[in-house]
Amino acid sequence: MEYSKLVEVYERISSTTKRLEKTFHISELLKKTPVEDLDVIVLLLQGKIFPAWAEKKLGISAKLILKVISKATGASVFDVENEWKKTGDLGIVAFNLIGKKSQQTLFSSKLSVKKVFENIKKLPELTGTGAVDKKTSLVAQLMTSAKPIEAKYIVRTVLEELRVGVGEGSLRDALVWAYFGESLGVRYDREANDIMLDAEKRRKYNEVVDVLQHAFDVTNDFSSVAKAAKKSGLKGLKEIKLAPGKPIKVMLCQKVEDVEEGFERVGKPARIEYKYDGFRMQIHKVNGKIVIYTRRLENITNQFPEVVDVIDKNIRGKEFIIDGEAVGYEPKSGRYLPFQNVSQRIKRKYGIDEMAKQFPVEINLFDVLYHDGKSLVKESLDKRREILEKITKQSSKKLVIAKVDYTDDVKEAEKFYKEALKAGNEGIIMKRHDSVYRPGSRVGGWVKIKPVMESLDVVITGAEWGHGKRSGWLTSLTVSIIGDNGEMLEIGKVGTGIKELEESATGGGITFESLTNMLKPLIISEKGKEVAVKPEIVIEVNYEEIQKSPTYASGFALRFPRFICLRDDKGKEDASTLNIVKEFFSKQRK
Ligand code: AMP
Repeated sequence: MEYSKLVEVYERISSTTKRLEKTFHISELLKKTPVEDLDVIVLLLQGKIFPAWAEKKLGISAKLILKVISKATGASVFDVENEWKKTGDLGIVAFNLIGKKSQQTLFSSKLSVKKVFENIKKLPELTGTGAVDKKTSLVAQLMTSAKPIEAKYIVRTVLEELRVGVGEGSLRDALVWAYFGESLGVRYDREANDIMLDAEKRRKYNEVVDVLQHAFDVTNDFSSVAKAAKKSGLKGLKEIKLAPGKPIKVMLCQKVEDVEEGFERVGKPARIEYKYDGFRMQIHKVNGKIVIYTRRLENITNQFPEVVDVIDKNIRGKEFIIDGEAVGYEPKSGRYLPFQNVSQRIKRKYGIDEMAKQFPVEINLFDVLYHDGKSLVKESLDKRREILEKITKQSSKKLVIAKVDYTDDVKEAEKFYKEALKAGNEGIIMKRHDSVYRPGSRVGGWVKIKPVMESLDVVITGAEWGHGKRSGWLTSLTVSIIGDNGEMLEIGKVGTGIKELEESATGGGITFESLTNMLKPLIISEKGKEVAVKPEIVIEVNYEEIQKSPTYASGFALRFPRFICLRDDKGKEDASTLNIVKEFFSKQRK
């Protein structure tokens, strides 16, 4: 398929905010896509080269793209950089400069989707001497054959900043429309912005959506779902099963005010568990090997050799997927430590064994999703917990099952909540006792209760070059939360809580220098002392109060925000939302 066909669809979907209209354009493209191009198209539509579960990352910096555009257009790096400063978007820069050049030359050949994909896919494989030049050539090669509008999307894809707004929901529905739309009677009416189904047809439609969603939930890979749907319809989709070795999204929860609201949401009796202050671990056993993933599905097996060992010895079964929270504790006293103290273990590449001794973790298991050939996600929580207890040999401070209270009594639940807080936990999670496991979902029968004034997880979207003794460092971080359409909304500037000197050996905290090193490759534009950075790094911040503010796009400002820690385990999509901020704002007034 020609790349220009995909680009046309990018343009159409970015020019509307209507979800159904986006769905329509995507479904029309999918209908036309031959099966051999399907996985590539599905990935590129999401602005991805690798599926979410794959280990590979592109990691291409804006600096390299400056060189690429210069090479492909003949403009000097200086000029490209100037254009970039004006527009703040390298996609637009590529569009403008290629446009100028193409007035003189005609395009040599038509770009295919496969060619674009293959060239970009090779990028992370290039390492060692000369890698930068080789990477530059591979992308420049695409740019010289690209029309201006194609160049814009190539740049954005390479920078992993597609910005056309294809959500998982739209893609899922587009697959349903493309492959089952005709038989279900789906007809998108642009005027009405509706798919015109009566109640009976809508019921059938929803059933198909559920089947497709489940197939996605257990594979976390729309490409394989699309291929199954195209090749063998509903039957093919139903055959897709959970498999150990492929991480799936973790089940999440919404926040409720108190225990009473909790019971209203999850019913009585409920299973109430401690909400541990650690980080999620999804642990798989496959082919005799233990593999550990974070909630973002990053493989952290190498960083936690002692966990591998403990799971291997104490969980019965040839193959399984279990879910739990790793909590750090102080080796001498056994006292639990807040997340920030152990978080540095997640990205650690060296000195792993010393780290394991210095910051040991206790695994608190709370679920099992697969065991010896059987997917358990559709079983009730009661049943899953029963199996978990049977297969786990608990051992204090290493591997335990999450503390639970099974009750229908508000007073008892409140007592349990207080006890949880007293023991140093974040709060409690109330779970519907007969709920299935809904991967990635926040509406699947789990709710959390935490004390009112809690920290926020914000994304770093900008910074300022420091002066005086802070010169050379990025200081004063601009931080953002997530708006209703997934956009970044600024909410404040954070400068306190970050250290000037080397991190202490006891861990926790971060220096300006290491922050600067993390942020530098993410810079997307610079104006004077201000830089904008690609939204990627999530930090947890405290603050004194949330105020209304006309200055920031979110409409709110954090008063005296203070850096607590890096949330290495979270991606920008896990950051706090505008709704949460509004909720906190209204609560603090009470
Ligand atoms: P939050 O990050 O505030 O949305 O809370 C959800 C997170 O709480 C999960 O991703 C887990 O990492 C963590 N958690 C701690 N204890 C539990 C538990 N007993 N059940 C489920 N999640 C838990």
